Amino acid sequence: MGNTSRELMNRSCKVIPGGVNSPVRAFGSVGRAPLFIDRASGSKIYDAEGREYIDYVASWGPMILGHAYPAVTEAIYEAACRGTSYGATTEREIIMAEMIVNAFPSIDMVRMVNSGTEATMSAIRLARAYTGRERIIKFEGCYHGHADPLLVRSGSGIATLGIPGSPGVPKVLAELTITVPYNDVEALKKVVNDYGSEIACLIVEPVAGNMGIVLPVPHFLDTIREITREKGIILIFDEVITGFRLAYGGMQTIAGIEPDLTCLGKIIGGGLPVGVFGGKRQIMEMLAPTGPVYQAGTLSGNPLAMAAGVATLKILRSWSNLYHSLDVKTNHLCNELKSLLEKKGLPFKINRAGSLFTIFFTSAEVKDFRSAQKADTGLFSKFFRGILSEGIYSAPSQFESSFLSAAHSDDDIERTIDAVSIALKNL
Ligand SMILES: *Cc1c(COP(=O)(O)O)cnc(C)c1O
Repeated sequence: MGNTSRELMNRSCKVIPGGVNSPVRAFGSVGRAPLFIDRASGSKIYDAEGREYIDYVASWGPMILGHAYPAVTEAIYEAACRGTSYGATTEREIIMAEMIVNAFPSIDMVRMVNSGTEATMSAIRLARAYTGRERIIKFEGCYHGHADPLLVRSGSGIATLGIPGSPGVPKVLAELTITVPYNDVEALKKVVNDYGSEIACLIVEPVAGNMGIVLPVPHFLDTIREITREKGIILIFDEVITGFRLAYGGMQTIAGIEPDLTCLGKIIGGGLPVGVFGGKRQIMEMLAPTGPVYQAGTLSGNPLAMAAGVATLKILRSWSNLYHSLDVKTNHLCNELKSLLEKKGLPFKINRAGSLFTIFFTSAEVKDFRSAQKADTGLFSKFFRGILSEGIYSAPSQFESSFLSAAHSDDDIERTIDAVSIALKNL
């Protein structure tokens, strides 16, 4: 303590590119210096100056129970006292795997990794090996981590061959990734018609969370399942956000759809670095050492991460009305925000799925990346800075979600509504 966020940022920029270890943390698009965090507890987070905020970032999703939840913290502490890494298998990894297999009907087996990025990257390698095909399909505006083949946006046209979304991604790799607008079944059908027998897998966020929240239109997910099954394309649900967020068993349980492979992360690590991919036994058994597809990790299944994850999942499993109450709480908050924004006369759309929501500053429905990009990011920045100075910490980007946790009390929600009301008056 003692250093301000600004001082820390100046110091950080000398030794870390942009001062941050993940770009969005730099607050680049919202026109102010980033917060440096000192600590967090329950629904609250505290910056280097000791200011308290009600936290709607939740570490971008993992903290569904709130920060420093005692049972999770204790599990980490107990595990740490027994050694922090062995590079050998532990019973906790089996418990974690069994819990995931029991929660997801589509998953027979899992492999633990250390991040969502690793999960999607490995799932794609496996799908390519299983099908003997090389092309993959992803949707525009969906984020699946930062592995080369997945950092591809769409070019012009309905569905063009990929161009690199980042310098450093080899063109030959990017060309294997075909992007299609989210919720656009016709564009998908065309791509599958043109390239069907060359496509290894289709990866999708069943509720998109990384262009802001965008819900699948009715029958979008069923149609994807049908098309991929017909053409022998592996369907990968990236449920890194939605996994244990929308229901115990993810969006696929709600939608009643069984993908071939599923990627998880965020919540399953209880705030520690974890990812998982899993699915049908005959696909998963292609992984080394049962099969030829190489995949490994020094810290995979790490004892602390498994302890935090298992403790979190046990609580989620036994907390019978948790998801319902998160839904009710978030719905109430969104309704109040809606009436405040209406009163102010601002153009906006709120997209919500359970405890996830995004306020888009646009008057048109947001159903894909293109419509999301119509949002007024200047207005968003002003709104963001306004609520931040009233003690509300939310994602510093128009194209992200807000996250509620079990720790958000009715009082937190009322304080949030008051803060937004004040911020809107000053806008
Ligand atoms: C966060 C996220 C990832 C990447 O996970 P990391 O742990 O950040 O590598 C992948 N897919 C989705 C849908 C995500 O939200």
